[in-house]
Amino acid sequence: MCGDLRATDAGNNVVLMGWVNRRRDHGHLIFLDLRDRSGITQIVLDKEKSPEAHAKAEAARSEYVVAVRGLVRRREAGLENPNMATGEIEIVAEELLLLNEAKTPPFSPAEEAIANEEVRLKYRYLDLRRVEMQKNFALRSRVAMAIRNYLVGEGFLEIETPFMTRSTPEGARDYLVPSRVHGGQFYALPQSPQIFKQILMISGFDKYFQIARCFRDEDLRADRQPEFTQIDLETTFPQQELIFGFVEGFLKAAFKEAGIDLKPPFVQMTYDDAIKNYGIDKPDMRLPAMVSLTEELTADLREALKIEQALPVLGFVIPSVGELSGTARKSLLSEIRGGFGDCGLDLLDVARLKTNPAFAPLAETIEAKLAASAEDLLTVVTPKLGTPAMWNYDPQWIYKRVGALRLQLAQKFADKHKLFEKTGTERDFKFLWVTDFPMYEWDEEHKVWNAAHHPFTSPHEEDIKAGRLTNDKGAVRALAYDIVLNGTELGSGSIRIHRQDVQAEIFRSLGMSDAEAKDRFGFFLDALEYGTPPHGGIALGLDRIVMILAGATSLREVIAFPKTAKAIDLMVDAPTPVSETQLRELHIRTVLKN
Ligand code: ASP
Repeated sequence: MCGDLRATDAGNNVVLMGWVNRRRDHGHLIFLDLRDRSGITQIVLDKEKSPEAHAKAEAARSEYVVAVRGLVRRREAGLENPNMATGEIEIVAEELLLLNEAKTPPFSPAEEAIANEEVRLKYRYLDLRRVEMQKNFALRSRVAMAIRNYLVGEGFLEIETPFMTRSTPEGARDYLVPSRVHGGQFYALPQSPQIFKQILMISGFDKYFQIARCFRDEDLRADRQPEFTQIDLETTFPQQELIFGFVEGFLKAAFKEAGIDLKPPFVQMTYDDAIKNYGIDKPDMRLPAMVSLTEELTADLREALKIEQALPVLGFVIPSVGELSGTARKSLLSEIRGGFGDCGLDLLDVARLKTNPAFAPLAETIEAKLAASAEDLLTVVTPKLGTPAMWNYDPQWIYKRVGALRLQLAQKFADKHKLFEKTGTERDFKFLWVTDFPMYEWDEEHKVWNAAHHPFTSPHEEDIKAGRLTNDKGAVRALAYDIVLNGTELGSGSIRIHRQDVQAEIFRSLGMSDAEAKDRFGFFLDALEYGTPPHGGIALGLDRIVMILAGATSLREVIAFPKTAKAIDLMVDAPTPVSETQLRELHIRTVLKN
């Protein structure tokens, strides 16, 4: 291949085929850089030695497909190219075939990515020729294979589940497929293989996995695709640690493909601790945690400083920001205060406290507790006296708001603390398991409780026994867990409900009548009654993992044929209207909403 030849091959006769990456015409000498997915080799065409080949090379242009036969020759001293793997050699062409021409491409695959992504997506076949994209997909293939090999080695079976199925409850809108045979009826594309993988456990397969495509019709945010790929697995008789072990194992195998040696087991933290210490359910562990100063702010001090009694006071440091000038400090404080608006939070100006003998000891205690050095940016947030009712004196609200500020300031000073910079080692990847998520989420708009994960997630036994499913939904913990990397959620899973009565009760507690539950999930409730083993599993986004390993900034860099933010495939131009005949066959008439 075009990337294979080295100095030790000098003297060999070879045949290479590929695309003309660049052509340089020096009159009697023409150089062609020949490219395939493995790399690039320089071809020399000498008018005197092989006039026929030289004449053809005159006609060759960028992206022509050519075959060349010739001799591998060491480049002359000083003409080697240390930036190319094949840079020590070149091929002296004896014969050249132009296998195909190419129109002048709208952008050159020999260049770095052009800024206009729409053009890249429209001419995706050219875009994918770029070295960087070829690398991304080679990596993706190796990562998927490493994961398969690991899981198969652990006794997992890869089993496919259907694309044309019934609605699955992952909380997004379904993509529907109309049935021609059953007029007016629709299949749904799976939002995940959730129910099928649970049924495979009921069927006794013990360990299932699938690198599964999932379909969710959501309003697309920057980093979402309507169809995406999950590493989906399920196993029988697990404690959650068993599942953590499998995931850590396959992640280790996957990261090894990118030359990174992960060192599991990963840290574990409950959801409550994540909120208390980081103000978010997916903590970025590259940054220092928040620190509670609730105790240090005694009743007297609070009174003097006009701070609400009892509510949390939180501090955090952003390391190595360096000393800010007086004006910079002032404008930062007013920027933060502006961001708080009238939400009831304020900043404690620790630097100013220091200058007041009455508060200097407090300032010192705070600095000590946060282990803040002079270089660190220290921020302390307090609930103001007479806080508005909007957050209902809820400490959770404060944790989350301060957590958000922590992330915002960390972004702002990223080039100072450099904690987000890559070193190319496992230290760049701070993994974390977050456990014991709440079972329910309150939907303020519709005034209903929703399943925070999905309705097949098992609540904690204690919470069921204590009657909290009916009395105190907000306090019910689920046996649900997320795996988090550097502040993004890579996947979630849970131990499932395996008893029909509990499942029925959960549906009821979600406001689903027995009739509705039977209608939507009757087959599954039936299946639960035929000897269902305890089981659990998880799913992780493969696209995101590959994106991180490739160092890419968008999922579209690691999905061969992605859709735009408006869910359009620009290359094939989908979606499109279809013919009247097709619609009629499907018993469909379209009426556009305006
Ligand atoms: N089906 C879930 C999801 O797609 C994952 C799981 O619970 O295993 O998020």
